[in-house]
Amino acid sequence: MALTPPATANRAPLWSGQGGRLGRAASRRPEPSGTPPRQFGAGVIAGHWEVVVVGGRIAGASTAWALAPYAERILVLDASRPTAFWPQQSTWDRSGNLAWSALGLLETVLACGAPRTYGDTQRIGADVVERVYPREDAYSFRMSVPREVLDPALLAAASSRGNVTVARPARVRDLTIEAGRVRGATVRHGAVDSQVTCDLLVLADGRLSRNAERVGASAYRVVESPWFALLAYYGDLPLPTDRSYFSLQDRSVLISTPCGDGQWCVAVDLHQSLIDETGQHPARSFERLVRDDPYLGPAVAAGHRSTPIGGAGRMRMLRRPMSGPGWCLVGDAGYHLDPVTAQGTRAALVTARILRDRVAGAGGVRGTDLTGLTDERDDALDDDWTYTEQIVRG
Ligand SMILES: Cc1cc2nc3c(=O)[nH]c(=O)nc-3n(C[C@H](O)[C@H](O)[C@H](O)COP(=O)(O)OP(=O)(O)OC[C@H]3O[C@@H](n4cnc5c(N)ncnc54)[C@H](O)[C@@H]3O)c2cc1C
Repeated sequence: MALTPPATANRAPLWSGQGGRLGRAASRRPEPSGTPPRQFGAGVIAGHWEVVVVGGRIAGASTAWALAPYAERILVLDASRPTAFWPQQSTWDRSGNLAWSALGLLETVLACGAPRTYGDTQRIGADVVERVYPREDAYSFRMSVPREVLDPALLAAASSRGNVTVARPARVRDLTIEAGRVRGATVRHGAVDSQVTCDLLVLADGRLSRNAERVGASAYRVVESPWFALLAYYGDLPLPTDRSYFSLQDRSVLISTPCGDGQWCVAVDLHQSLIDETGQHPARSFERLVRDDPYLGPAVAAGHRSTPIGGAGRMRMLRRPMSGPGWCLVGDAGYHLDPVTAQGTRAALVTARILRDRVAGAGGVRGTDLTGLTDERDDALDDDWTYTEQIVRG
């Protein structure tokens, strides 16, 4: 399918395909509040760091935070600009809350101001059910935080450790590999190329990671997904803020989740066969599904859309080896689950926790033996993979 965005002034959709990166940022959100991470100028980052983390979003920022007590100096590099709209949702349930807690980041996440939801309205075909989530413990709620709020909060938390430096935008352009071991990277920051060396290079650069290929971490398990994931944020919807809404229809799933500050994330998963059948651009299908929905349609007519419609299609679930000499993959870079089951955040946190535990067990980054992490991760996430693969394969 040709991903040619339809012309919609100031609200152009943003796309990411299997081979492509995110499209242009058509709109910018205001700078998030809170203490921004310390930024460093070009040239200052050159030199040796015990840990260099490539990618400063959920996986990268959480890993930097988690490794900080076990390293002298950590450098986080992220190629994106802080204000870019990032059409990847972050919603999680109780298992996600437990994963945040295991990293010591739950308070940081709760401070982002998103409401806790304790149930949802679920429409399957014409049937509507009001569900209440089982109340197992204090973690039994669902939450969604916009990435433009969550990611900076995580970076600020990492930066508050005192030994974590954030450089952004800073793109890793190449890696230094000597005698089969990763020794460092070439980084473009502020129009200057700098050389950094490190004891451990953590790749948290997302599912399209080019650096994973550079270290030889080829995918050993791949599932092509027929689902197209889209989302947009809406403001001032006359909807309850303590519950989400799911509509499961033929080859589409529509979800709205309150995410704080008078905003809702509206997400749609569209099966590729539906896109092919209607011949409509996915953004038009998104608008039609939202408009025609008996619950959401009237609500969005009363509110307003505050971001472009963005998303990704032709994605692949994939597993790459988690570690090798001098490197480790966390988050989507090493283990990408299709967004249709909303388990990517939890998976990223689990990989960060596994690395943290290994380093903590060794008493520090230097000299930590990283062998066996792949099996540990695959065991820990096996249920998530199996469930997601079942849904993806239909
Ligand atoms: C439409 C959509 C909806 C989703 N909905 C959900 C959901 O509801 N719940 C859920 O749990 N998950 C969801 N996901 C999945 C979730 O977004 C991902 O699992 C999560 O973002 C992974 O985080 P990450 O930190 O591993 O990677 P990313 O968020 O992809 O971050 C990678 C970072 O690396 C940086 N980078 C890349 N290359 C370089 C380089 N060479 N140098 C420096 N920096 C670099 C990028 O700029 C980026 O900031 C969704 C995904 C999509 C696409």
